[in-house]
Amino acid sequence: MSQRRYDYDLFVIGAGSGGVRAARLAAQTGARVAVAEESRVGGTCVIRGCIPKKLLIYASQFGEHFEDSVGYGWSYENAHFDWPTLIAHKDKEIARLEGLYRANLEKAGAELIDERAVLAGGHDIHLQRSGRTVSAERILISTGGRPNPHKALVGHELCITSDEAFGLEKLPEKVVICGGGYIAVEFAGIFASMGVDTTILYRGKEILQRFDMDLRRLLHAEYENKGIKIRCQDVFGRIERLDSGWLRGTFHGGDCYDAEQVLLAVGRLPNTEGLGLEKLGIETDARGSICVDAYSKTNCEHVWAIGDVTDRMQLTPVAIHEAMCFVDTVFNGRPTKPDYGSVPTAVFSQPEIGTVGMTEDAARREIDHLAIYKSVFRPLKNTLSGRSERMLVKLVVDADTDRVLGAHVLGPDAGEMAQLLGIAVKMGATKADFDRTMAVHPTAAEELVTMYEPSAIIRKGEVVEAA
Ligand code: NDP
Repeated sequence: MSQRRYDYDLFVIGAGSGGVRAARLAAQTGARVAVAEESRVGGTCVIRGCIPKKLLIYASQFGEHFEDSVGYGWSYENAHFDWPTLIAHKDKEIARLEGLYRANLEKAGAELIDERAVLAGGHDIHLQRSGRTVSAERILISTGGRPNPHKALVGHELCITSDEAFGLEKLPEKVVICGGGYIAVEFAGIFASMGVDTTILYRGKEILQRFDMDLRRLLHAEYENKGIKIRCQDVFGRIERLDSGWLRGTFHGGDCYDAEQVLLAVGRLPNTEGLGLEKLGIETDARGSICVDAYSKTNCEHVWAIGDVTDRMQLTPVAIHEAMCFVDTVFNGRPTKPDYGSVPTAVFSQPEIGTVGMTEDAARREIDHLAIYKSVFRPLKNTLSGRSERMLVKLVVDADTDRVLGAHVLGPDAGEMAQLLGIAVKMGATKADFDRTMAVHPTAAEELVTMYEPSAIIRKGEVVEAA
């Protein structure tokens, strides 16, 4: 493809979900591709994010499964959980997945370079361990992000982030989790279900800011029912280590709270430091994220960036989609912009959240005439088990066009439901389409197609009818 002026047609910096997909697809077009990785292949998602997190969640759910089984006639004795065994098994599985990622790159014909690569100016890339400099016609930056270390917090270095939480030698007795986003609520569910005394400390009014308020409130209530403490509108001003080895957090108001571990889950920062962006004059925003156009191109003619390093949507499938669009645009002659409309997402809280499209609050701001359909109920499984946990399903509908703008679920398998709801919402399904879809009985998801009466009609942001 390129004139042989360069060593490679494409050099990818960062072998996470986005970088690996771009490298593989580009190599499959016949391009000469290299991908450099300073850490482990697979990036945040595979090594220290989605996959290990989901494994920990599965592990943490057994306790409730055992409890629920009693109502169904089972008895169990001496059930015992061993954290080091779980971590060892998780590490083995992650190593296996990393091996697959490596093998797939090789199979596609991409060269994997196991060292840190930085931009050296022009088309050159400097490989820091070997000291080599190579050149590429095009460069793709997919270096991802890392947990925000929250340096403004005095004593932040005593805290852990999700990176360390995945490898803790022992399960703490008591943990405080700072933040109220995805990672905070997911780890709160994991730790609490494993018997850890767990507190969420969140600066805002209600956890999970960008989600539908009904989901946020019900999750908050269900977390408190499980014994998770949630303290909103407060933050630690200082952390210090006690003689016992535990940590003491002091609130701005002066009162203190002790815990064995403090987990910081206050967002993630892009990995752009020391990357040599200034050598090419590549623009970044105030957070340090790389600025790109609608095709993931930077302001430098031969450099593109995808995934978390660009701060568009910090989600694995989005990074993979951006990678595929990049390869279509640059290597397949099909200019393709990533599509960020109606991206379904799940929060693996316990109970789980699955959601796609507009929240009720967002719709109230933008749409004149809305119909809200909502059902809160106890799932069938919770009857014999005696568990009180409730489930919520909700549709936000444009009452003039009948189009379903948002679908929100809190409850078992909500993430799985969000995947399928995502198709319907993306296709522009109307409430009538939902209504004429036959229910699958007995399931929890059938509620989504059997809510015939709106729970509220909203005009210009105000409720005019409520059930
Ligand atoms: P989030 O953006 O989801 O949440 C960050 C939280 O930290 C928010 O509650 C925010 O408060 C709070 N916060 C930010 N800065 C401060 C501060 N200075 N002091 C106190 N609190 C602060 O980030 P996460 O770290 O939870 O996760 C990072 C990203 O990774 C997510 O946005 C998501 O895109 C992705 N992710 C996706 C998952 C999934 O798909 N299931 C799972 C885990 C992560 P406020 O709300 O007030 O801004």
